[in-house]
Amino acid sequence: MPFSSLFRLDLRRLIMLLAFLSGIATLSNTFYASYQVQREALIQNTLEANRVYATKLAASIEEYFEAVRQQLGYSAALLSEHFSDETLLRAELARLKLQTDSFNSVFAVDAQGTLLDIYPETLSQLRGIRATSQAAQTALSAKIPLISEPYQGASGYLLIAISSPVWTREKRYLGYISGTLYLEQPNMLSRLLGEHYYRDGSYLYVAGSDSRLIHHVDPKRIGERVPNNPVIKAVLQGETGSMQLINSQGVEMLAGYAPIPSSGWGVVAQRPLKAVMAELDSLMWAILYQSLPWAVVGLMTIYLFARLISQPLWQLARGARSLDAENAQDQIQQVKAWYFEAAQLKRAVLAGFSTLRQRIGVLTRDVLTDPLTGLYNRRGLRVTLDTWQLKQQGFAIIALDIDHFKQVNDTYGHDMGDQVLKYLATVMQECSRTADLACRNGGEEFLLLLSGAHLEDARQVAERLRLRMQLADIPHIDRSITVSLGVAEWYPNSGITVEHVLKMADQALYAAKQQGRNRVVTAAVDVEQANLG
Ligand code: GH3
Ligand code: MG
Ligand code: MG
Repeated sequence: MPFSSLFRLDLRRLIMLLAFLSGIATLSNTFYASYQVQREALIQNTLEANRVYATKLAASIEEYFEAVRQQLGYSAALLSEHFSDETLLRAELARLKLQTDSFNSVFAVDAQGTLLDIYPETLSQLRGIRATSQAAQTALSAKIPLISEPYQGASGYLLIAISSPVWTREKRYLGYISGTLYLEQPNMLSRLLGEHYYRDGSYLYVAGSDSRLIHHVDPKRIGERVPNNPVIKAVLQGETGSMQLINSQGVEMLAGYAPIPSSGWGVVAQRPLKAVMAELDSLMWAILYQSLPWAVVGLMTIYLFARLISQPLWQLARGARSLDAENAQDQIQQVKAWYFEAAQLKRAVLAGFSTLRQRIGVLTRDVLTDPLTGLYNRRGLRVTLDTWQLKQQGFAIIALDIDHFKQVNDTYGHDMGDQVLKYLATVMQECSRTADLACRNGGEEFLLLLSGAHLEDARQVAERLRLRMQLADIPHIDRSITVSLGVAEWYPNSGITVEHVLKMADQALYAAKQQGRNRVVTAAVDVEQANLG
């Protein structure tokens, strides 16, 4: 295929291009729109899921605190008359620690702040020390059930303490009992919340009322203060909700949060935006893979349609380009113009075609024929001779000249002379077959080409012609008009040119004139005889 037709902007390619561009435009538009919608939906869903999750966990922790408060309250009531009974106190502390496993340690402090006893046994060296922590001070002065902020305990652990005051029946304050959660160790909270990152980087944390991290999947961060985090700010104000934020580590997060009312803490569940976007990416790829086969099917359909549409136009164009071809009209006739414009075009091309044919036919006839007699002229003769020569079609020639035609003109006038010429033309046609060719060679000289005829046939035709003219009764002419004729023959591979044979016929005619007119002379034989004579 040549370069130019490879890059030609034909109708099929234009339709394909148009379809392709509009397909791309539609696809990318749809893609962009669905990307935006999906993104928004995913973000909203994630925020809502995190909010629900945080709320549920906050409720669980609240329930845990309630249970713990009841346990401690019950033990405090039990111990109100026996706070100084070491055996009973120890038994009750052990029961609290072992029966429920709600605490990492359990201890009792008297009204002066002295640690009366502690469980488990491994911490027994702490008995008798003064409890000096902020949590202890608060518990001693407030004398109500409390959940402390995180602090460094005498045991060395970062912990929170949940305490319940011990009163006698006479409303005398004896001190308090307290259960602890070691924040950096496995504890009841971490059991409730889980202590791992999810696969996609989602995680939970709990912030205390002073913005300190009480629970976090990264144990190193427990105890750290995060005062500027907007989620922590919101949840510590008692709000439940969700928000998109950049966390203290600079990571974009989708966070849901809920407060734990009894402790004033907040639970935050969050998922990195990146994880949501990764999900979106795989979603978009899935959409692309799903739509790709249809896009291919669509393009193929359009390709076929483009072919169907362009085919008749292309065929019509090809037909119109080669109007001179033998079967051009048939070619155009066979084009399946299946839609309106193509049908119109086909009709127009066919109409133009037949007009052209007619015009060419008229012009050809005018060029090749003699207007007076309607016979072929010298050009017509030339065309026929060329064709016959090409086809190796043998023929005989009769050259013919009216005798004393000048006198006819002189006697009857030029117009009558024309009438005689026309009459002769008619006779010539009557004496020949359709395959033959009658021709006015100029003036009152004529030629008759007899296709496939030999000398003797031609001589007979010439004789018949001569006789018919001699005997003719031409209107308004009261004398006989005679003609002289010379006959010659050409056949393929004779070694003689057509021009030479024409000359031979002419010479035979000349001989006929010489021999007294109104006669037929055959070339070769008669001429040679004449020459010999
Ligand atoms: P011949 O051939 O027997 O020797 O004598 P001729 O009188 O026919 O002599 P020639 O062939 O020389 O004369 C031809 C004449 O034919 C001369 C011209 O006036 C006449 N002629 C030629 N063309 C036409 C034509 O178209 N119409 C008429 N009416 N006469 C023509
Ligand atoms: Mg003449
Ligand atoms: Mg003459």
